[in-house]
Amino acid sequence: MANSPVDGTRARHARRWPAVAWLVASALLIVWHLVLPHGVLADITYLVVASGAVAAAWIGVRRATGASRRVAVLVATGVTLASTGDLIFILYRWIASAPDVSVADVPWLAAYVVLGAALFLLLLGGERGNHIDPDGAIDVAAVLTIGLLVAWGLWIGPTAADAAIPASTRFVWVLYPVLDMVLLALVLRALFSRARRAAIGALLGLGVACWLLADVAFLAVTSNEVFTAWIDAGWLAGAVLLAASTFRNQSRRINTARPASADAVGLGRVAIGFVPLLVPALIEVVGNAAGDAPSYGPLMVATIVLVALAFARAARLVQSDHRTRALLRSAERYSTALAVNSSDAVIVIDADRRVLNESPQLATLLGRASLGTQGLDALRLLAPTDIAGTLAAFESAQSTPGQVFETEMSVRHGAGHVIWLDIRLVDMLADPDVAGLVINVHEITDRKRAQDELAHQAFHDVLTGLANRALFRDRVDQALRRNARTAQDPALIYLDLDGFKNVNDSLGHESGDRMLQEIARRLVDAVRPGDSVARLGGDEFAILIESSHSVDEAEAVADRILEMLALPVQLGDHQVTLSASLGIAAGDADSTASSLLRDADVAMYRAKGLGKAQRVLFNPEMRTAIVERLQLDNDLMAALDRKQFRLVYQPVVELESERIVGFEALLRWDHPTLGTVMPDRFIAIAEENGLIVPIGAWVLNTACDTVARWHRQYPTQGDLTMAVNISARQLASSDLERDVAGALARTGVRPGAIVLEMTETALVQDTTVAAARLHELRALGVRLAIDDFGTGYSSLSYLRKFPVDILKIDRSFINTITERDQVPAIVRGLLDLGRTLDLETVAEGIESDVQRGSLQGEHCALGQGFLFARPMDADEAERLLTHRAAAGDVVVQAAAAP
Ligand code: C2E
Ligand code: MG
Ligand code: MG
Repeated sequence: MANSPVDGTRARHARRWPAVAWLVASALLIVWHLVLPHGVLADITYLVVASGAVAAAWIGVRRATGASRRVAVLVATGVTLASTGDLIFILYRWIASAPDVSVADVPWLAAYVVLGAALFLLLLGGERGNHIDPDGAIDVAAVLTIGLLVAWGLWIGPTAADAAIPASTRFVWVLYPVLDMVLLALVLRALFSRARRAAIGALLGLGVACWLLADVAFLAVTSNEVFTAWIDAGWLAGAVLLAASTFRNQSRRINTARPASADAVGLGRVAIGFVPLLVPALIEVVGNAAGDAPSYGPLMVATIVLVALAFARAARLVQSDHRTRALLRSAERYSTALAVNSSDAVIVIDADRRVLNESPQLATLLGRASLGTQGLDALRLLAPTDIAGTLAAFESAQSTPGQVFETEMSVRHGAGHVIWLDIRLVDMLADPDVAGLVINVHEITDRKRAQDELAHQAFHDVLTGLANRALFRDRVDQALRRNARTAQDPALIYLDLDGFKNVNDSLGHESGDRMLQEIARRLVDAVRPGDSVARLGGDEFAILIESSHSVDEAEAVADRILEMLALPVQLGDHQVTLSASLGIAAGDADSTASSLLRDADVAMYRAKGLGKAQRVLFNPEMRTAIVERLQLDNDLMAALDRKQFRLVYQPVVELESERIVGFEALLRWDHPTLGTVMPDRFIAIAEENGLIVPIGAWVLNTACDTVARWHRQYPTQGDLTMAVNISARQLASSDLERDVAGALARTGVRPGAIVLEMTETALVQDTTVAAARLHELRALGVRLAIDDFGTGYSSLSYLRKFPVDILKIDRSFINTITERDQVPAIVRGLLDLGRTLDLETVAEGIESDVQRGSLQGEHCALGQGFLFARPMDADEAERLLTHRAAAGDVVVQAAAAP
């Protein structure tokens, strides 16, 4: 617990008490000496106190450390010398009467010199700052000069001139006031130097002061005995105080830094330099008043010395002033260089916006030859494009003085164009050095442009320059909000190009891009200036018709678009015509941008379903279709696992004989709540979510199982084929060939009995992949058919590229045959094509005898349709086959399975 603060304090107190006891004892003895100033006892008292001081001083020296130790040694030496002098003097007195000058004077005088050295050391500032402060030295010299002048008048002069005293005695006596004055000068200097006053310590100062007083008193009055006692007391007190000073550890304070104001040229310092010059004159005046004859020699010398010192001081002040000015000039040049070489310009204006000052950059920045702007209104100088905004910025800056207000503004450049500036305003009207509003101007036109470019890119389609989806949504939102006020409904057209992919695939992406740009241009032409056209992505566009007064207006715009698109586009050597499917939705009070876009999208899908170049107006029932679609999408996931799929089979017949040559497997989904769902409703969804791949594999395997079984059951029907529909997604999948090969291997079906049907649209999605895939399949021995032929992107070049065996002519063409032997040219053309390419043709969807008869007349060999049989389940097909096996090749009009 010795470390606790309380114990520490106690320990310090314990260490202090001998010192305190010594001080008290010394004080009591000095008082005792005052009471009893004469006789041997008084002398002994004197010696006891003096030797006590000597002992104490040296104890202090032992404790002192560092710089203060050297001072303490000097002080202790001084006290010791003084006491030695005292002892010698008293011994003289005891032996005989003391002489005027004796050996005692040697240690006494030495004591003064040593003490002076101690004071000098302290004034130097200890160990580190071991340099002489010239101003301090001048001050000491001035005080010393004055002191000596006074001392001359009072003692030195009279003593030196007293011929009654021996010359050696006079010399020694003169030395005392001289040394006194030296000490006085040093103590005063220390007293007036704030930094050193603390360092010197009150005790040392007091101690020296006691000696000086005693000396002065001794020199002034020697006769009176009462005074002699007091003088003795002064010397003793001085010795005790000096000894006590060694106890104080000064090292902490000695290194006090020069005060910061040392170089500042104040009037006070000028006065200090010149006031001493008054002293000789004063002494003369006082001397005259007292009736003394002035001694001109010392006065003259003192005046010369003081003038020299004052001059030295003034010279130093001037020098320091020069230094300060040079520093200022350098700082000014530095800031000017910064301003001139900076890209920023600075303007200072007053409270009324009048220009007080502006940097040379401003003219260059604003593109004006030369400004000459003093007193000009800052608004005229800057020429901002937004005057109100600029005024507001000035006001904001002025409402918060001292704070930086930052803003950007566009101003008119001298050359006429607009440039952007970053402006920083600070109200420094209250600052007397500035007294204005400081405007820092930095040009940011390039940055602004880049920002605008980025912003444009973020909201625009790079290819067409049209608004993108984000910006379009925003515009729809705004239109709907305006609509809430003006009750004018906006309408939205969602546009999807028909068969755009084929352009990309056949003519390349560059042509596709040019096509999109041309279409964008036509769309912009087709709408009114206030309406917006956007590219939502790929080949999808949207048009916002602001405040359409009726749905008719939107429909009229849609028709105009369809007309404009019907004109062919020249792409290099090719003339391409593209149509589009358009969905229209009209906004109402409840619409949101999302709902309007979704509705138009739904209507667009419906339009797509209707064929090419159609427009459909949205109605809410379409929305239920979407909901159903979502439900089917969701339920499809589990349908395969839950065994909800089954296949039905539709016979393919020879038209001539109605003999069944094969079947087409068609998929049915027995949905737990919706009942039987037809493939048209879910195949597209399964395509989208990818489930068509596993579902297709299941169809393939099941169909192969069935036909394998039939081949076994009806050996006479060994040529019976089984057609399986393959979707685009399956065709793209590398699993297809493996699945087909697997099914063939597993069931042992003759590959030639399997027909894989693919639509044209599935084939043209990626023609290279499709062609490769068809060759792989063909290599397995299966036969390939193009389904729904004529509805897709029919092209002879494709037909040649793909190794197909069968063309299935779409029902929509067969439908057009309404009168016997009146086969429309298109149907005849398709049949011709099949024949030319040496392909088997199957007519789909034959519903009437007229159709059958006409097709027969055109030498179409095979057909499929309700006229012969509806798709039926396997049992029913088997009954049919059994019947056929027994009765020959006749197809009975079978009851249709759904
Ligand atoms: P598709 O391959 O062209 O099949 C013929 C469609 O025409 C069948 O419709 C059939 O019921 C119908 N049909 C046949 N004769 C007539 C007729 O005389 N009049 C009328 N109005 N329709 C007739 P379904 O079964 O609804 O199949 C529709 C389409 O779904 C199929 O067209 C086929 O593209 C696709 N599909 C069916 N099953 C599958 C499958 O397992 N996989 C894939 N990927 N697609 C399938
Ligand atoms: Mg088919
Ligand atoms: Mg078909």
